[in-house]
Amino acid sequence: MAEKLTAIKGMNDILPPDSARWEALETAVREVMRLHAYRNIRTPIVEPTALFVRGLGEVTDIVEKEMYSFEDRLNGEQLTLRPESTAGVVRAVVEHNMLYEGGKRLYYMGPMFRHERPQRGRYRQFHQIGAEALGFGGPEVDAELIMLACTLWRAIGLQDVRLELNSLGQPPERLQHRAALISYFEQHADQLDEDAKRRLHTNPLRILDSKNPAMKALNDAAPKLLDSLGADSLAHFNAVRAILDANGVAYSINPRLVRGMDYYNLTVFEFITERLGSQGTVCGGGRYDYLIGEIGGKHSPAVGWALGVERVVELLKEQGSASTEVAPDAYAIIPDAASLPLVTPVLQTLRSMGVSVQMHAPADSAGGMSGMKSQFKKADASGARYALVFGADELANRQVTVKALRDGEGAQRTEALEQIAGWGHSLQSPL
Ligand code: ATP
Ligand code: MG
Repeated sequence: MAEKLTAIKGMNDILPPDSARWEALETAVREVMRLHAYRNIRTPIVEPTALFVRGLGEVTDIVEKEMYSFEDRLNGEQLTLRPESTAGVVRAVVEHNMLYEGGKRLYYMGPMFRHERPQRGRYRQFHQIGAEALGFGGPEVDAELIMLACTLWRAIGLQDVRLELNSLGQPPERLQHRAALISYFEQHADQLDEDAKRRLHTNPLRILDSKNPAMKALNDAAPKLLDSLGADSLAHFNAVRAILDANGVAYSINPRLVRGMDYYNLTVFEFITERLGSQGTVCGGGRYDYLIGEIGGKHSPAVGWALGVERVVELLKEQGSASTEVAPDAYAIIPDAASLPLVTPVLQTLRSMGVSVQMHAPADSAGGMSGMKSQFKKADASGARYALVFGADELANRQVTVKALRDGEGAQRTEALEQIAGWGHSLQSPL
């Protein structure tokens, strides 16, 4: 036997029945996006490396050490598997001049790639669902996006996530705060870890985002940007809060909340759970009014978020919500392969009416009585409500036996093959 090939470390297969949870989440997302008039966008998984270097900032975890970058062997282009999707969405919006007639509300779902240390809730291929509102500067859109996420949590039954909110102000305010931070950290240089030392003069704000517990006390006492916001930034922040308050959205203000990417300004937020250990951020986002200009478009404000699908699904499991895998309506038992030309059109008729039918292929069964028995066992295990038995006796009369496997278990009746559509309809209407 040839040596077995396995998936790449940190890249998972999503198998049934888990995949049913993913599909249910995706279905809920489509509906919630529709309710808020967000439209779907699909961008390539591979983009020019320069897009992320420019978009995310050179001194970020992602660009410094997490990107899957490679040279195209054929033409030497520098390419990267997308580590996130905002940069790609912005590139597409600029490239296709999509803001020409005003703002756009967009959403996406798909795989992202980051070379991180794999652990629970942290993978090398993972999936994000994201919403972006581009070309809108007002606080009402920040609030809309936050409430959209809350609506999604309700729709999928996600509990135990709390919302943290902060404002990063505008570039001049950040510059001022940056100077204050540098001098603060310089005064405590002996307490800085390696990452912090390296970032002190390149990106001190990111020191606050450190996951090193030894840095926590120092970070807690650092000067807060929120305390030195100008009037406009403060007004924007308060307007977002007022809408959230009016809608009963609970949140806490976390002055140390900064995001992994450089491009954020004003509102930033995260939805966090305590139930997934240290990988507790299920969704994060904020305003990024300068990214579109950075990527070569005409300056336009924007705001968005991305959620981690693996973490959301994990949290749903953790809180014990039932898998949503649906059983077929009917399980077709076909003992004799010779009857397939007669039986398969009947199954197709049912399916065309929306009745789901799982076929037991005759070639898979042992035949004889024990074969029948094992087919009934499989029918039962499938979770189907009914077994359809297309046996020799039934087919001789152009009939099928319908046997209830769940409600009224054991009850059975015969239906004419020609009348199967009538039976199918009766399934759909309440009993
Ligand atoms: P973290 O601080 O956990 O590394 P991040 O700030 O890098 O997260 P974002 O870039 O904001 O995360 O991505 C948004 C969401 O995507 C995260 O909140 C998380 O749910 C999910 N996510 C990010 N990286 C991973 C990963 N490697 N594996 C699984 N999910 C991830
Ligand atoms: Mg990260």
